Amino acid sequence: MHVDHLGIHTSVEEVFPPERLAEALADLDPNVSVVEGDYDGVDAVVTFDHDPDFLDHVDWIHTVQAGYDKFPLDELRERDIVLTNSTGIHGASVGEFAVGQMLSLARRLHEHRDKQHDHEWEWPDWDDPFTLFNEQVTVVGLGTLGQGVARRADGIGMRVVGVRRTPTRTPHTREVYTPDRLREAIEDARFVVVTTPLTEATRGLLGADEFDAMREDAYLVNVARGPVVDQDALVDALESGEITGAALDVFEEEPLPEDSPLWDMDDVLVSPHAAAADRDYYRDVADIVRQNVLHLDADEELVNRVV
Ligand code: NDP
Repeated sequence: MHVDHLGIHTSVEEVFPPERLAEALADLDPNVSVVEGDYDGVDAVVTFDHDPDFLDHVDWIHTVQAGYDKFPLDELRERDIVLTNSTGIHGASVGEFAVGQMLSLARRLHEHRDKQHDHEWEWPDWDDPFTLFNEQVTVVGLGTLGQGVARRADGIGMRVVGVRRTPTRTPHTREVYTPDRLREAIEDARFVVVTTPLTEATRGLLGADEFDAMREDAYLVNVARGPVVDQDALVDALESGEITGAALDVFEEEPLPEDSPLWDMDDVLVSPHAAAADRDYYRDVADIVRQNVLHLDADEELVNRVV
């Protein structure tokens, strides 16, 4: 594959201005420009969305996200189109976000901000606040995101347990379970943080049985993908008190529909799939793309290759 023209698709503006990335890559040999709709002469594209027209033009697609569940992997394989992703860059941003949400729920920060809006000077109920110190968090998925969460949770004194397919010892975790022992891994946790990719194996991974197994004072944090959690079962579990609360960055349908009961639950924090938002995001993507352009020149394997 030879890349003469690298397009930056306008859809990356979901995360950063496309021009910023184009400028950061301007010194590379390929011509770099912002593109939308017309891909004549474009050999490779960096994108947020999938446009089916890519398939008739480009040889390489780079997604600015870690998740690649929106791309037609079989079709890409058939057409010999390379797909690379942006895993590896979200450990700090999503790690801090997830720990921030846990801190908010434990220390009642969200409640104080809500009361500030109403100019109310009032303590939370005496028995609502608690400290994260010594509480168990089970992190389901121990890749970039999961290890980013584990490291920070360990740093503030939480007892970190993990779940991954390969039960290898992982830094900052006390114990690592395989997915077949998921219920055992989550039954004692005060927080369950979901950080797996969305695959056929993880769709609905957390559902009614898992919420039933969780402690009644437990919270679910989902920073992965909406469908990894059975959202109806989650709403039922929250409404019936089977678990206490949740911090949700991702949903089965995004934006979260106006009539979702999740919007108005006191102990549910809703954010707009923004856990990875970071002013340096475009620089991190530029580093991966630059590395791969250089690898192509040197006829070396691409990093973060998915297909
Ligand atoms: P990685 O590939 O680095 O890590 C994935 C982890 O999930 C691995 O530890 C893997 O196990 C584990 N895993 C895979 N399948 C299962 C399973 N069936 N049960 C338990 N664990 C499993 O990915 P990232 O950490 O970079 O990203 C993870 C996902 O998070 C992305 O795919 C994306 O969907 C989402 N994401 C969301 C963001 C947001 O803004 N909210 C931002 C970035 C990512 P093993 O180590 O054994 O292979």
